[in-house]
Amino acid sequence: MQLRIGHGYDAHRFAEPSDNRPLMLGGVEVPHDRGLLAHSDGDALIHALCDALLGAVALGDIGRHFPDTDQAYKNADSAVLLQRVLGLVKNLGWSVVNADMTILAQSPRMAPHINAMRSRLATLLEVELDAVNVKASTTEGMGFVGRNEGLETHAVVLLSR
Ligand code: MG
Repeated sequence: MQLRIGHGYDAHRFAEPSDNRPLMLGGVEVPHDRGLLAHSDGDALIHALCDALLGAVALGDIGRHFPDTDQAYKNADSAVLLQRVLGLVKNLGWSVVNADMTILAQSPRMAPHINAMRSRLATLLEVELDAVNVKASTTEGMGFVGRNEGLETHAVVLLSR
């Protein structure tokens, strides 16, 4: 059996409340007064996960596959991007063993939404719930995350074939 590991990172700036953007993370809408600024729906957790998947199979990053200069991806549903990335991975014969992710955000509190994210991502990745972990931390007020300017995400995936 062959194994591959991949890592992904993303960060997005919060929009203004007046922008009325939903906060999408892990394919779930998290109730908050500010969404994330992005060309797509701004789901930074899915973006990090896509980059981890692409990284594991040496296919670059989501910016290469879904350029933000392409109007086709304006306000794109990141769950659909993830399904397309998973398709590329599966076409090469790989399947997901597990995924582990971290959200760094000063607010809102992620804990009430973690299980919904795991469930949604497990469905999208076509794996059991216990193969997907999502955790969240603040930065104790430090840096751009601590100042609530935006949030960042990390993802690691293991693939086998
Ligand atoms: Mg992104």
